[in-house]
Amino acid sequence: MKIEEIIKEKPHLQSPLELYEKIKNLTEQCKQEKERVKLDNDIALIDIVLKNFSSIFNIPFESISFLKDEIIKSGKDIIKEPDSLWFLPIQSEELSKEELERMLFILSKPFFVFLRKEGQQASFMDTGKCPVCGTDSSLAMITENNEKIMICPLCEHGGSFFRIGCPYCFNKDSSKIEILLDDEEIRAEVCLECNTYIKSFRENHYIKYRDPFLIDLISLPLDIVAQKKGYIRRSPNFIGLRVIK
Ligand SMILES: [Zn+2]
Ligand SMILES: [Zn+2]
Repeated sequence: MKIEEIIKEKPHLQSPLELYEKIKNLTEQCKQEKERVKLDNDIALIDIVLKNFSSIFNIPFESISFLKDEIIKSGKDIIKEPDSLWFLPIQSEELSKEELERMLFILSKPFFVFLRKEGQQASFMDTGKCPVCGTDSSLAMITENNEKIMICPLCEHGGSFFRIGCPYCFNKDSSKIEILLDDEEIRAEVCLECNTYIKSFRENHYIKYRDPFLIDLISLPLDIVAQKKGYIRRSPNFIGLRVIK
């Protein structure tokens, strides 16, 4: 399904879906450019991300190029630790704190995706966290064989996890896991032990939407329901939202 068609069907999700599409383009273009130029120079990678961000979000490059100096000045290796971008001590007169956080989140996305190697298969079984970047995941696909694949919202790695179980506290007692369903039968699996939930969807949703992160956004109303009941989402979605109002 094309994004415009989905927006037509779900006009209340227009702005998150438009942002989703831009972030998706950003990571795709950065990935392609990295492949094409075959570079392993960190500064050049930062340039690629900033340039593509500038063109996709229609922000003049000159107004974000200072970020490169900030990154270098911070002494952090954002190639190895992309989340260090979120903590850059940046002041801005034009942007609110929220906008600034959102921008740094978006800029970190391609760096997280660069961490992942093609064909990597590591599972989430040991820690419940992404084995590539160490992030919590709140999204899973249930395959036709009834296996659960957790999907990392940042580096986008998918790996198996226990079919019934909370990736946060490892509760595997099905009587302490409650299921909330939305009208498309996307589920919130709520752990009554630690008050965390993850969302899960079946392969037929995947066939319809072709992207787990899109399914996560389409079911934003389900996050609202779960969070109103007091349940916690441990990781952000594709556009950087974790607490959804
Ligand atoms: Zn990850
Ligand atoms: Zn739990």
